[in-house]
Amino acid sequence: MTMYFEKDASLSPLEGKTVAVIGYGSQGRAHSNNLHESGVNVVVGVREGGPSWTQATADGLAVTTPAQAAAQGDLIAILLPDMVQKKVFEEDIKPNAKDGASILFAHGFNIHFGRITVPDSMDVVMVAPKGPGDLVRRQYQEGKGVPSLMAVEQDASGEAFDRTLAYAHGIGGTRGGVITTTFKEETETDLFGEQAVLCGGATELVVQGFQTLVDAGYQPEVAYFECMHELKLIVDLLFEGGLAKMNKFISETAQYGDFVSGPRIINAETRQRMKEVLDDITSGKFAQEWAEEYESGLTNFRRMEQEDLDQPIEKVGAALRAQMSWINSD
Ligand code: NAD
Ligand code: MG
Repeated sequence: MTMYFEKDASLSPLEGKTVAVIGYGSQGRAHSNNLHESGVNVVVGVREGGPSWTQATADGLAVTTPAQAAAQGDLIAILLPDMVQKKVFEEDIKPNAKDGASILFAHGFNIHFGRITVPDSMDVVMVAPKGPGDLVRRQYQEGKGVPSLMAVEQDASGEAFDRTLAYAHGIGGTRGGVITTTFKEETETDLFGEQAVLCGGATELVVQGFQTLVDAGYQPEVAYFECMHELKLIVDLLFEGGLAKMNKFISETAQYGDFVSGPRIINAETRQRMKEVLDDITSGKFAQEWAEEYESGLTNFRRMEQEDLDQPIEKVGAALRAQMSWINSD
C-alpha cells in the first residue's frame, strides 16, 4: 500500500488548467470551494436557474451549464448522483469535452459496472474522500483533511496520476492521507461497507436492539438512549483509538459482556450473509437491481424509506432530540 501526504504532492500538475466540477451537492460543493481556496481555477457546471446554480453563485464561484463547463475543463469532476451520471455524461460531457481531458469520479460505480465508457483519448481517474462532503469542507477549513482513495483506470494524457494526486491535494485529502486503489476495489468495498456495516448493518442493529427492549416492556426513552444515543460515544472511542481505547473507557462489566455476548449476536451465520451481500456486489446483481429500481421510478425505494421513518425509534428519537438543544438536527 502506498499513502501520499502533503509533502508528496503539489498543485503544479493543475497549474494553468481549469477544473470543471459537474454537480454541486454534497461532494461537488466541498470539492469546488476547497479547490478554489487552494488556488485552482474552478468552474461549476449545474442546471441553469436551479438551486445549485444559485448556491454556487452565492459562494462566489464561476458557474455555467454542465455542457459549457465540460468544454472548458482540462479535468472534469463528475459529482452527480451515481444514477444521473450516465445521462449527463452522454448528453453534456462526452460531446463537449476536450481530447486529453481527465474525467474524474468520486466513486467508481459507473466505470466499474460498465455503465459509462469514456473515449480512449481521455483519462479516467478517481478521488474518493472517505467521508461526506460537509466533512470534506469543514475539515479543510479547519486545516485538516478527510483521508481519500485515488485511482487511475485510463491514462491517455500521460499525466493522469499526477493530476489526480494534485486534485486530492487541492481538496485537502493529502492532509489526511491518500491511498492508491483501483476502481474495482473502491467500488466493491464502498458498497459493502455501506450495506453490511455503516448504513445497513449499524442501523439495523440499533433498531432491533431498541425494539427488543421495548417489546420486553422497558420505556422507549430508556431504550433509545441505550441503543441509539450512546452509540456515538462508542464510535468516537473506536475512531480515536480502536478497540483498545474503547476497552480502556468502558467498565470491566461492559467488557466482559462484550466478549461473551458480542459473538452471540454477530456470528458465523452473520458472516455467511455478509459474504452473500458481497457476492451480490461483485457479481453486479446489486448494481443491476439498483439501476432497475431507479429507472422504474423508485417506488420500492420510497416505500422502504417511509417504512424506515415510520418506526417507533424515529418518533421517540425526534421527541428526545428536540429537548437536547446542543444536538445539531440539520
Ligand atoms: P448529491 O446527491 O449530494 O448531489 C448531486 C448534485 O447533482 C445536486 O446537488 C445537483 O447539483 C446535481 N444534480 C442532481 N440531479 C441532476 C440531474 N438530473 N441533472 C443534472 N444535475 C443534477 O451527490 P453526492 O452525494 O455529492 O454524490 C456525488 C458523487 O460522489 C457520487 O458518485 C457519490 O457516490 C460520490 N460520493 C459521495 C459521498 C457522500 O458522502 N455523499 C462520499 C464519497 C463519494
Ligand atoms: Mg436500515
